[in-house]
Amino acid sequence: MRRTVPWLALLAAAAALPLVSGDPTITYLATTAAIYVVVGTGLNIMFGYTGQVSLGQGALVAVGAYATGILMADHGWTFWAAAPVAVVVTAGAGTLMALPAFRLSSWYIALVTLGAAMAVRSLLVEFEGLTGGWSGLVGIPRPSFGSRELGERDVLWMVLVVNVVLFVMVRNIVGSRLGRGMMAVRDAPEMARSVGVGPARMKLFAFACGGATAGMGGALLAVHHGLVTPDDFTLDFSILFLLVVIIGGAARLAGPVIGTLLFFALPELLTGLAEWRGLIYGAALLVLMVYAPQGIAGGWDKLRARRRKGRAPAATPATGAAEDTAEDVAEDAAEVGPPRGEPLGVELSGVRKSFGGVHALQGIDLTIEPGKVHAIVGPNGSGKTTLLNVISRLLRQDAGRVLLGAEDVSRATAERLARRGVARVFQTPRLLGASSLRDNVLLGAYARERAGGPATVLRLPRARRERAELVLEADRLLAGHGLARRAEEEAAALPHGEQRLLEVARALMARPRLLLMDEPAAGLTPRELEALGRLIRAIRDAGTTVVLVEHHIELVANVADVVTVLDRGRLVTSGAPEEALGDARVVELYLGAPA
Ligand code: ADP
Ligand code: MG
Repeated sequence: MRRTVPWLALLAAAAALPLVSGDPTITYLATTAAIYVVVGTGLNIMFGYTGQVSLGQGALVAVGAYATGILMADHGWTFWAAAPVAVVVTAGAGTLMALPAFRLSSWYIALVTLGAAMAVRSLLVEFEGLTGGWSGLVGIPRPSFGSRELGERDVLWMVLVVNVVLFVMVRNIVGSRLGRGMMAVRDAPEMARSVGVGPARMKLFAFACGGATAGMGGALLAVHHGLVTPDDFTLDFSILFLLVVIIGGAARLAGPVIGTLLFFALPELLTGLAEWRGLIYGAALLVLMVYAPQGIAGGWDKLRARRRKGRAPAATPATGAAEDTAEDVAEDAAEVGPPRGEPLGVELSGVRKSFGGVHALQGIDLTIEPGKVHAIVGPNGSGKTTLLNVISRLLRQDAGRVLLGAEDVSRATAERLARRGVARVFQTPRLLGASSLRDNVLLGAYARERAGGPATVLRLPRARRERAELVLEADRLLAGHGLARRAEEEAAALPHGEQRLLEVARALMARPRLLLMDEPAAGLTPRELEALGRLIRAIRDAGTTVVLVEHHIELVANVADVVTVLDRGRLVTSGAPEEALGDARVVELYLGAPA
């Protein structure tokens, strides 16, 4: 919150200017700019937070504007009736545009939305009876209360109120389960699924948000201008919003405000520069992409972080050193919350998986008993990660059957398994790099959070209470890994070893009944390794089945109840650790001498 204050002050100043100046041109421009901020904020949800590029926002604004214009000018509706309909219609159109997004990567979506934008424009011209063709719709009245029609300043006030409400809603979303889910879809789609986020639903939600805000912007633009023509909605207009978000700072609350001020308001005010605009902004965009790819708001945050770091070192060692001694880690780490239910066992029969000519799994039959630590060892490329992917449903097997508990999950999705209580630690950490450690851990609770959409968006007491409890839990987990003092720091700034611990904390936050760990010990210090061993035993003792893929033979010998050895996609041996690991052939051929 604190870092958005300067930007809000700037916004307030910009808003106050036309209200005190009394110059109608300025009021007009400010209203237009504030409407653009509404649209930009919606696109920020789609692009900034969810990673879905759209070049079609301008076309969606057109849909909202025309819907409002047609209903008001041709059918005599009031603004208060027409605007909600326009919002719903546009949200629908935005969602329609999203359908290809489920199958395509983001740069193809850019092309699809660009195509949609062009199609909308020609439809506006073609359906002359409805839209007035090239001459558009005229005589759209201002909104009115009873017989009193709003003045130009009233419209500005109204748009500012819309902005404030939207800002609060988006802030609530971004800080919630939904926001974390969006960012997970953007940053690490597989990880998103493994914590229970359905990427398709999330994208749909993001496109619906983008559509609804574009519809709102269109409705406001229609009554602000009093007319709509196809010329208002050129391709430039669609691209404008993407630039506003990128330049202002994608995935920053203040991004669209800054982007609009710089990209639209400033050049309008400095009319002398109008013809240089393309050049100036092209150059500005290039400079930004090189020096501040996170946009202006992002660059600002980075500068502040660097200044803070410059001041910090003197203070931290003295105050914090005692906090994460090995003892502390051990004590807290043992405090693993109870799992969400009985431990889950797994039964694989005849599981095969090939990638082209590579037979990663060649008919695996394996039973993983509930409530045990089951280690899987084997040389690189033996199919260990693939096996975890099949169990967690991130991959579909070519043949064979997977049972989870008593349930056949051979065709289930990863999201569904996450909801059943399966959690995953990835071989290479998959984190929300730009989010805090705390948010990364909170993401792990995605599948067990109860507060629904409306409670989240409005931050109702129920949602707030739940969040407070989860934050406590997350902070305890972070403390257990000696990361308590860094809870607010960016995950991307963590050293690799600690990123792994963060992965573990996220997985534990799910209170899993089955925990799949892919080489969690890689790159840990001996002290961290010892703590991890204790932690894994504590997890098992709390009632969670653990499947541990690991190269570190000492760790395996210490914690495993059962060891399975894989080689080239086949099961070599499976049994008690002494037997499986004691087999000299296994030690030499597959694992190398214990370090
Ligand atoms: P491990 O985790 O035991 O090191 P993996 O399960 O990652 O092994 O890989 C097993 C084999 O399958 C390797 O030969 C690897 O190159 C191949 N493989 C794994 N994933 C893919 C993929 N997505 N596409 C193609 N080949 C893959
Ligand atoms: Mg692997």
